[in-house]
Amino acid sequence: MNQKINLEILKNAIRNVPDFPKKGIQFKDITTLLKEPDLLAYVSDRFFEHFRDKGITKVVAVESRGFILGGDIARRLGAGFIPVRKPGKLPAGVFRQTYKLEYGEDAVEIHRDAMNRDDIVLLHDDLLATGGTSLAVIELIKNFDVRKIFPGYIIELDFLEGRKKIANYDIFTLIRF
Ligand code: AMP
Repeated sequence: MNQKINLEILKNAIRNVPDFPKKGIQFKDITTLLKEPDLLAYVSDRFFEHFRDKGITKVVAVESRGFILGGDIARRLGAGFIPVRKPGKLPAGVFRQTYKLEYGEDAVEIHRDAMNRDDIVLLHDDLLATGGTSLAVIELIKNFDVRKIFPGYIIELDFLEGRKKIANYDIFTLIRF
């Protein structure tokens, strides 16, 4: 790919998959973006530029698509990487936070020794939808009484208004649908 990359090109590289994983969901598939080296580098560069002066010490990334960029951006920022995982995956002592889904409940976990109160955190997932996941992860991070939390996503689905759920935070998103 040798055309100049911009956000419109990035947006067009995301594949929309109707009715996945269930009827009515328009799934935003980032694998079509990730497989292009120039686009992957572009996304990484935009995150790096935005967060480089924020003093980030830990990148808290959400299983599993948050891990893809999370590790790269942590390394570039000189920060540590902290995984947030579904229940039963982390091996040592954890904090757990449950949250409501459309039907039923889910939960996320973080290791109890993941951070301390001096940390400044970039909370990263690939996509902000209803904000339910991010709100639960913010509750997890609050256990550590950290200095600041900056949520950052590749994609935001405006119509689901997730931004309203985490309105107290300075949110960064690259692409909005
Ligand atoms: P939410 O908790 O509603 O903000 O959902 C965010 C989480 O669900 C993220 O981990 C996303 O990867 C995933 N997700 C929700 N909706 C979609 C969608 N339309 N396309 C792709 N991933 C989604």
